[in-house]
Amino acid sequence: MKALLPMGLSVLCVGITGCGTGCGAAASSPDEPSPASVPVRSVADADFPPVGNRLELSDAEWRRRLTAAQYDVLREQGTERAFTGRFHDHHEQGVYVCAACGAPLFRSEDKFDSGTGWPSYTRPIEDGRVASERDVTLGMVRTEVHCARCDGHLGHVFDDGPPPTGLRYCINSASLDFVTVRTP
Ligand code: FE
Repeated sequence: MKALLPMGLSVLCVGITGCGTGCGAAASSPDEPSPASVPVRSVADADFPPVGNRLELSDAEWRRRLTAAQYDVLREQGTERAFTGRFHDHHEQGVYVCAACGAPLFRSEDKFDSGTGWPSYTRPIEDGRVASERDVTLGMVRTEVHCARCDGHLGHVFDDGPPPTGLRYCINSASLDFVTVRTP
């Protein structure tokens, strides 16, 4: 998979910060604002950190930077309740980035309606953005996925997704922000 970020484009960043079938983890209580209350900010695509650019912060710094719901998911492997996140029913064209470090993770073109209540994607935006690890918690054997830049927990990946990959990246909305691509 190659880099899919549009070149020479600026993006309009909409700070909008989810797994059911198959995710099966304990639910946490989200305290995210509703999409309508989220402010809009503009960033340039060049502001995306390159692949391999790591961000390692202290636990205290993560607690300072993240909301309680974001911290629960990203740093404590929590799972938000189905259908409560900001992106499970989100259909704008753009890029989903890590809410903790801003790294681009998924594209809207790879998002599909899994019916689970969590935003679901068939693949990451490019190689090196999303890392995985075997997860045997909660009496299940799953594949956990996290941001390769900051190690923030995103969700899990399952092999029951649609073409072209047959994969379903089941992601918590609280671990994501969204940027809308804007041509110059
Ligand atoms: Fe990250």
